[in-house]
Amino acid sequence: MNIGSTDRGAEKYAIDCKYLKRTIDRERPDPYAMLCTHIIRDDKDCIGPFLEDIETECGLWEPNTELVNRQKNRL
Ligand code: SF4
Repeated sequence: MNIGSTDRGAEKYAIDCKYLKRTIDRERPDPYAMLCTHIIRDDKDCIGPFLEDIETECGLWEPNTELVNRQKNRL
């Protein structure tokens, strides 16, 4: 885990994971659901966290297309 970094190209934030699916679930007290589409987690809640500058410890994390493109643009 790396806390306090501002390098969004190298860190593993849950919000940048390609398996993350953000959706609305009106059955929940907080309807904004963050689900994991990885085959192992099968649409369960993403482990997060979704706090600024705190990386995920999820071993399944992979960068989404937006992050890959941001990393390419830095080269
Ligand atoms: S649980 Fe892991 S693999 Fe699934 S969306 Fe969250 S960070 Fe990505």
